[in-house]
Amino acid sequence: MGPCLIAADSNEHTADSTKQPLPFCVLCAVCCVLITMVRIPRGMYEAIIQHCRSRYPKEACGILAGDERHVVQVYPMRNVEDSPVGYSMDPKEQLLVEKQMRSKGQRMIGIFHSHTATEAYPSPVDVRLAISPEISYVLVSLKQPTIPAIKSYRIDGAAITEEPVTVE
Ligand SMILES: [Zn+2]
Repeated sequence: MGPCLIAADSNEHTADSTKQPLPFCVLCAVCCVLITMVRIPRGMYEAIIQHCRSRYPKEACGILAGDERHVVQVYPMRNVEDSPVGYSMDPKEQLLVEKQMRSKGQRMIGIFHSHTATEAYPSPVDVRLAISPEISYVLVSLKQPTIPAIKSYRIDGAAITEEPVTVE
C-alpha cells in the first residue's frame, strides 16, 4: 500500500490525489483499510470467475456495483472487442446498467476484466484507459485456468496501487 494521501484533518474520508502524501497519517489505520479494501461476497466472486471462464480465451469484462467498498451486484458485460488481448464495453449496454444501478441506489465501484494469458496486473493499455482513481480495477487472471487469480488496483495517472480483495 502506498503512502497515505488522505489529509489527517479531513472529515471526508476521500483520497485526494492532488494532496502531497503525508509522512504520517493518524487515520491510516482506519481510513485506508476502509477505503481501499474490496469486499466480494463468495457468490459474486463465483459469478465473476464464471463470466471470465465463459469467454475464455477471450477477455471478459463487467461492472461491479456496490455500496462503499462492498460489492452488492455483478453486471457481466459484453466485450465488444471480442479479443484475447483487450476489452471494451458497449456504451449502450453500459448506459442500461447505469440506469439499473441508479434505480437500485447502487453505484459503480469497480470494473473487472480478465487476462487469459498474463498475470492479474494492469497492462499499459489498462492504465491508459483508466477513468478514475475512485474505481477499483479488478483483474482476473486465467493464465492457470484451474487456479484463477483475482487482484484489485487503483489507477491514478501512471500510478498503480494494489488494494486487498476479500472474498467473504
Ligand atoms: Zn487488461
